[in-house]
Amino acid sequence: MYRENTKVIRIGDRVIGGGNPILIQSMTNTKTEDVEATVAQILALEKAGCEIIRSTVPTTEAAKALGEIKKRIHIPIVADIHFDYRMAIAAIENGADKIRINPGNIGSAEKVQAVVDKAKEYGVPIRVGVNSGSLEKNLIEKYGKVTAEGLVESALDKVKMIEEMGYDNLVVSIKSSDVLMCVRAHELLAPQCPYPLHVGITEAGTVYSGNIKSAIGLGIILHEGIGDTIRVSLTGDPVNEIASAKQILRTLGLRQGGIEVVSCPTCGRTNIDLISLANEVEKMVTEFDHLNIKVAVMGCVVNGPGEAREADIGIAGGVGEGLLIKKGEIVRKVPEAELLSTLREELANWK
Ligand code: SF4
Repeated sequence: MYRENTKVIRIGDRVIGGGNPILIQSMTNTKTEDVEATVAQILALEKAGCEIIRSTVPTTEAAKALGEIKKRIHIPIVADIHFDYRMAIAAIENGADKIRINPGNIGSAEKVQAVVDKAKEYGVPIRVGVNSGSLEKNLIEKYGKVTAEGLVESALDKVKMIEEMGYDNLVVSIKSSDVLMCVRAHELLAPQCPYPLHVGITEAGTVYSGNIKSAIGLGIILHEGIGDTIRVSLTGDPVNEIASAKQILRTLGLRQGGIEVVSCPTCGRTNIDLISLANEVEKMVTEFDHLNIKVAVMGCVVNGPGEAREADIGIAGGVGEGLLIKKGEIVRKVPEAELLSTLREELANWK
């Protein structure tokens, strides 16, 4: 298990690496300069279960805003830096808990050294991020195209460069929108990298395709014991990313807690609007992340109770009404309109 053996790195008040729980990250899509909008989005992400947030810092104004934002949120904030090393320095001075840079696009070694010195002074970890879209020309030429081998070589070069500058408070990420290339790159990198790995499939796509690509890519990588923090990248409201990340971790047995919803696919026996109900239940149960139980949402009273036997609690639709079921036993009948609220009440009083 690679993640048991990565270096322990502190990001604000969180700790990653060395077998610590895998943390869920996301990234704001507001203008970081807009403190109100960014804080609102981060608070919504926190509520959904985001554990580390990253915001872009392209301007001095954004770096200053970071300081204001930090005062009003409760999770570590990572400054995402591209090209301008002065933004990295400003972000650290304004309280960034970690910075993400690609030393390849920061410029000269002196500029990278200046960032490293500032990070060292403040004890702020640096995430060395390599992306398939910005792989160096010489590595593309060496390998004939963008390859997993090229990405790994690029990441290890950057890590070595920073180590030689006297800093090892590092996290590494390699991202590619090609799922299999991303998997291969992690398989090659993990045995050679002592630092925690942040894992994500970049530019994964919309909620539909992004979820599938992320579930496959992150699923394989995490199941191979690789990865200390994750991000599911989706084109859309970042809050959607959190539920997906949680679901991936739970499915792999890498996170306990939270309600698992099972629902039937519906068939000709369904007489209630089960599809809407199942979607509403899935949203509603996120309020009860402290419960570690299974909830079934079944379409009919004929097979529903039996099929829901594996669940701790469930509902099964009838005609204009449904059944409340616990451990496969029918508890009582409930009007269709009250099924969701009844379930919520049961969960609120769950012992
Ligand atoms: S639980 Fe009932 S409605 Fe749902 S798929 Fe099974 S038989 Fe059909």
